[in-house]
Amino acid sequence: MPAPGETVDPSRVHALDPDQLAAAVAAARESIRAAADLDALAAARTAHVQGAAAPLVLARRELGALPREERADAGRRHNAARAEAQAAYDTRLAELTAERDACVLVEERVDVTLPAARRRRGARHPLSSLSDRLVDVFVAMGYEVAEGPEVEHDWFNFEALNMAPDHPARSEHDTLYVEPTDSGRVLRTHTSPVQIRALLDRPLPVYVVCPGRTYRNDTIDATHSPVFGQLEGLAVDEGITMADLRGTLEVFAQELFGSGLSTRLRPSFFPFTEPSAELDVQCFACRGEAARQPRQPCRVCSDEGWIEIGGCGMVDPNVLRATGVDPARYSGFAFGMGLERAAMIRHDVREIRDFVDGDVRFGLPFGIEV
Ligand SMILES: [Zn+2]
Repeated sequence: MPAPGETVDPSRVHALDPDQLAAAVAAARESIRAAADLDALAAARTAHVQGAAAPLVLARRELGALPREERADAGRRHNAARAEAQAAYDTRLAELTAERDACVLVEERVDVTLPAARRRRGARHPLSSLSDRLVDVFVAMGYEVAEGPEVEHDWFNFEALNMAPDHPARSEHDTLYVEPTDSGRVLRTHTSPVQIRALLDRPLPVYVVCPGRTYRNDTIDATHSPVFGQLEGLAVDEGITMADLRGTLEVFAQELFGSGLSTRLRPSFFPFTEPSAELDVQCFACRGEAARQPRQPCRVCSDEGWIEIGGCGMVDPNVLRATGVDPARYSGFAFGMGLERAAMIRHDVREIRDFVDGDVRFGLPFGIEV
């Protein structure tokens, strides 16, 4: 910058010439108009209007080099040129901002009518639900829930239940033994050992319901499975009679299959009850009509009119003695049923394998806590 009185070098103030300023403004306009987006526009502004190397910024630095009398004019010219470039920038900025906002509105549009992505929560297994429901029936009548080990000692599973080692009923159980074979341990073939444990563990009177998994050496087919669920009940008290058993099972059968259905007991045999009986309930589908009118076949009861749902009887005095209960003072009844069988009848399931295949679609139609 020249000192006062120094000769002015015309080449240094050339940038403030009207023509040069107009050219700088034209270049700025061109670059600003050509900016395709906000980033390009910012770069154009730096190059032509604001940056340290921008011609308009460089031109302003030359003001001081002019003779004093020319500075005011040159300053006005420069201001006008800068304002023109700034106006071009402001206009393009407004255009590009509007374009970007319009794009954002389209790209980030949310369709509030789209269905939400739902996760299936799965369903409770139909057997678990049935077991809980049946247990609730007995709990409502004052029973307690009792459970026991699935690997059981021979004494609990057979001997205490009036099945000595040579008892012929043992062979019907198709028992699975735990190695070594003389270990005396078996996979329990029924839930009855839980009744023995209840009588040993609990003070009398005893009212227990025992749901659980049991095992037999059965080949799996449409109606047999080596693993199946049972539900048993036991009541031991003073003065218990067969009438108590009948009344209890009637309440239970109606809870399972619906009200207004008759029940009947048919004589049977179990080593641990005497007398023993099979419990039948009137067919809930035909209400016994299929047996009376053969022209209306019923798939549920095979035209029998009755459905067998379990075994029962008065507890054999030998079982009471085995657990230290005086049969002269106490008596009791016991009953048991297969859970899969009850569920198959109740829901018309034709294949027992469906319960263990693990296909969630099988459980969903039961509509249980999905
Ligand atoms: Zn029927």
